[in-house]
Amino acid sequence: MPVPFAQLGDAYDVIVIGSGLGGLTSANRLAYCGHKVLLLEYHHKLGGLATWFKRRGHIFDVSLHGFPYGMVKTCKKYWNKAIMDSIVQLKKIVFDNPQFSLATTFDKQDFTSILHKKFHIPQATIEKFFGTVTAMNFYDDQSMTTRELFEQFFPGRTDVHRLLMEPITYANGSTLDDPAITYGIVFSNFMNRGVFTFEGGTDKLIGLMSDELEKNGVTICTRSKVDRIIVEKGRVRGVEVNGRTIEAKAVVSNSGITNTIDNLTDKRAFSEVFLEKAAAIRVNNSSCQVYIGIKEQEYIPDIGDLLFTSTAPDFDSQELLDLRTRSKTFSLYYPKTRPGHNRYTIVASMNSRFEDWSHLNVEQYQQEKDSMISRTIIDLDRYLPGIQTQIDWVEAATPRTFNHYTLHTCGTSFGTKFEGLDVSRSIFKEVGGLFHVGSVGIIMSGWLGAINYGVIVSNDVDGYLRTLNG
Ligand SMILES: Cc1cc2nc3c(=O)[nH]c(=O)nc-3n(C[C@H](O)[C@H](O)[C@H](O)COP(=O)(O)OP(=O)(O)OC[C@H]3O[C@@H](n4cnc5c(N)ncnc54)[C@H](O)[C@@H]3O)c2cc1C
Repeated sequence: MPVPFAQLGDAYDVIVIGSGLGGLTSANRLAYCGHKVLLLEYHHKLGGLATWFKRRGHIFDVSLHGFPYGMVKTCKKYWNKAIMDSIVQLKKIVFDNPQFSLATTFDKQDFTSILHKKFHIPQATIEKFFGTVTAMNFYDDQSMTTRELFEQFFPGRTDVHRLLMEPITYANGSTLDDPAITYGIVFSNFMNRGVFTFEGGTDKLIGLMSDELEKNGVTICTRSKVDRIIVEKGRVRGVEVNGRTIEAKAVVSNSGITNTIDNLTDKRAFSEVFLEKAAAIRVNNSSCQVYIGIKEQEYIPDIGDLLFTSTAPDFDSQELLDLRTRSKTFSLYYPKTRPGHNRYTIVASMNSRFEDWSHLNVEQYQQEKDSMISRTIIDLDRYLPGIQTQIDWVEAATPRTFNHYTLHTCGTSFGTKFEGLDVSRSIFKEVGGLFHVGSVGIIMSGWLGAINYGVIVSNDVDGYLRTLNG
């Protein structure tokens, strides 16, 4: 249970700013290691982008569309068995576009068969491609782009490029021009066993995580926006929040890395070289979503769990970002998603640019949202004819919504491009006791990436505190 702000102490070992999956994991690990941890969250709910909301009896998940099998091991090791036990596979992933239509379990075996039988790629090429992406790791050469990787194995085969890339663009915002490792690591994570989800929904997951935080003694305070990280003599001293100073030996910021450097910390605390690197960080794109609640008692047939649909002739990263993109992913939440809650909800997700929405006035903004909702229902009608009559609730979110709720620069959904990783990993070398956790470098984003990064950063913080305490 969150503690009222007035009841907070004056000093902690660690303050974690933000309760995204990275912040939650760091706070939990550090408390588990015996440190006195305060978790401050701006919103009234924990979870950051791992969130949900309720409307007229419907529960909408914002970012629960799919993650790799690696979540099972990570949750077992760093959270608990109850969390691990709720992870289940999404068995039907559907693609439908002018180049091909198919259903898959989205794992290596099925993709090998599809690439060979449907796309007529020689078995040896497929094996070589899988061998290459599986062997990719963080320390590899980063000069090769995903486009070059695809051209090397499947020259001119834009249909194959689309099959391999489209889901990953939705999963982490990466494009054909990003370093191939940002593709390879995430794609091979999925190919390991397929796409998984959390049975019971995001609300259940965050509830279980809150229980674990409480068990380990984390002090949680919501509706608390940190305004400043206080640095003195090259070290953090604490934070300023709601007009009060709270001291800490270490501060872990789960606010975006650009926010942490530009808005939360006095820039004089950093070296010029570091600030130059930070200024070059590009944030990833944001998202739009349309949330559709189906009337109680209405039935929706099984058209797949995830439906990658497009009427654009080819895959094109820019087309996917367009204000009026013809490409979207439908996530279908059948009653099995939340056993006991007998409702169907559908969420359409699109990648999106903040600048396409930020300048619209109130009227234009509403018009664009309405028109996005109409296009979404027309697209959905191709798979569920007459769906309009079954809809009970519909509303939309835009990059402005994500910016509003998380404070992320330009409402970014997947943190920063690759260069953000180095800055995030080296911030503690600039200011003693200051750490960053959260979506950076594409590979540290997504549910699995953010949780794993939370573990890595908590180990750094634990090491720092132990050295400090002698
Ligand atoms: C539309 C959408 C769909 C997605 N779908 C998927 C998916 O299917 N699978 C998947 O794996 N990933 C998905 N993701 C990505 C995934 O949700 C994120 O990568 C991950 O949840 C980010 O975790 P994080 O640790 O970076 O923190 P965030 O979730 O970004 O949270 C940061 C937190 O810090 C808080 N904060 C910021 N500044 C302050 C401050 N000054 N004071 C106090 N608190 C502050 C914010 O309020 C927020 O709660 C999706 C994201 C979006 C937007």
